[in-house]
Amino acid sequence: MKEFDLIIIGGGRASNLAVTAGKLGKKVALIEKSTLGGTCPNRGCVPSKLLIGYAHVANAIKESKRHFIDSSINNIDVEKIFEETNNYISKIDPRYESRFNENVEIFRGIGSFISNNVIKVNEEELTAPQIVIATGTKPIRAGHEKAWTSDDIFPLKGKVPKSITIVGAGFIACELASFFSAIGIKTKLLVRSQRILGNEDKEISSIFKKEFSKSVDIKFDTTIQNIEYVNDKFELILDSKSEGIVEHTSDALLYATGRKSNTGSLHLENTIIETDERGFIKRNELFETAAKGVYVVGDASGKHMLQHAAAYEVNHLGKILLEDCKEPLKFKYMPHSVFTEPEVTSVGITEQKAQEENIEYVTTTTNWLASAKAMSTRLKYPVTKFIINPKNYEILGCHMIGPESSTMMHQVLAIMHLDNDIRHLKEMLYIHPALSEALLPAAVQAVKEIERYQSSF
Ligand SMILES: Cc1cc2nc3c(=O)[nH]c(=O)nc-3n(C[C@H](O)[C@H](O)[C@H](O)COP(=O)(O)OP(=O)(O)OC[C@H]3O[C@@H](n4cnc5c(N)ncnc54)[C@H](O)[C@@H]3O)c2cc1C
Repeated sequence: MKEFDLIIIGGGRASNLAVTAGKLGKKVALIEKSTLGGTCPNRGCVPSKLLIGYAHVANAIKESKRHFIDSSINNIDVEKIFEETNNYISKIDPRYESRFNENVEIFRGIGSFISNNVIKVNEEELTAPQIVIATGTKPIRAGHEKAWTSDDIFPLKGKVPKSITIVGAGFIACELASFFSAIGIKTKLLVRSQRILGNEDKEISSIFKKEFSKSVDIKFDTTIQNIEYVNDKFELILDSKSEGIVEHTSDALLYATGRKSNTGSLHLENTIIETDERGFIKRNELFETAAKGVYVVGDASGKHMLQHAAAYEVNHLGKILLEDCKEPLKFKYMPHSVFTEPEVTSVGITEQKAQEENIEYVTTTTNWLASAKAMSTRLKYPVTKFIINPKNYEILGCHMIGPESSTMMHQVLAIMHLDNDIRHLKEMLYIHPALSEALLPAAVQAVKEIERYQSSF
């Protein structure tokens, strides 16, 4: 049996912890069954956003008429786009491997529990007083053996399809549909209901639906009744509320219908570690599972499923394990963005959540047109929606739709992080006429609304 100070199962975000612990002289075992770096740089955030970059350029050309400029795209070298992206991905594993010092031993294989504190990998048995589970999630399986999930396009093996059908209504489905459609691949997005980006505030998702439908062919209220794979093509029978039963053919079929727990290979049945009804590992406030000394961080806990959340957790777990920190990490406000066109960014609760939970709130929705930089985009739909506690001016939620909303939101996040009071956003100095200046009238309107609410009592 090999003994370590720390065993980490899953070399995604938790590889940062291996680097830090190794530097502090701890003997670390890092177990990874696939490529080091995990989902984010290999088959998630980074490659998908690299693709979105190409989509932005293509869309800018396509939309140039809005700016009275007549331009057209001569050719898009889609093979080259994927070659570049595949190239980026191929460098991730060696780049991560080079980050570890001699104290970190990497085990390439599936880690599983033999008991609460013994791990098996490739017929070797390892033990440590501290074990971290950071095994992430996996995509929900595609509806046909030849169909893809997002894992199958990063890296893309084989030919780039000429047409693609994407199933799903969440951020991964929308981002990929946005990309494929922008670069000229015939794209159809199949959505089971009338709602798309259903976790967003309803007001924002309905603006999104209207605008996104202008650039992506979306079939709402549509399900797949049958799939045949004939002569390298998918022959689908679709059941659509508006058109009834229709046939549809596509070179590729991609399912982006969500991600699920990845704990199957861990053999948790050999431990006292508990999982919830969705199979995600339960933990206490200090990330510790039911088994003493065994922790879980990142997507494996099923909490946020976001890279920045996983990185924040791993960083805090480092403080708990290496600096004896006893404080829990409080995620009161978890932001996220959808990097489509339009771009959607959100933090905190939606108006629907406030209503469901009987939370006292006021809300305002303000367009961005007060900012000249926003005006120069010649887009009318961008808005900022605030959900505010009228008693103490606390920002409970902020939802934006518009170009660079992910960047704009950081201003709100800074206030929420330091001293959560919307009045700071009203009183601070803005650079004129930056895009962010659009937040000034939004804050002014929100404060007015709070004062109107307060004076009504
Ligand atoms: C297409 C796509 C786009 C995304 N875009 C964004 C985005 O824009 N912004 C954002 O914040 N998030 C995004 N995400 C989510 C983000 O990638 C994840 O939240 C993040 O990677 C989670 O990190 P993690 O370390 O918890 O898990 P992972 O990065 O998934 O790492 C888990 C690792 O554990 C390994 N593993 C699993 N089981 C075992 C085992 N038994 N033994 C050994 N190794 C094992 C896996 O191979 C993997 O390398 C995206 C995800 C996808 C799929």
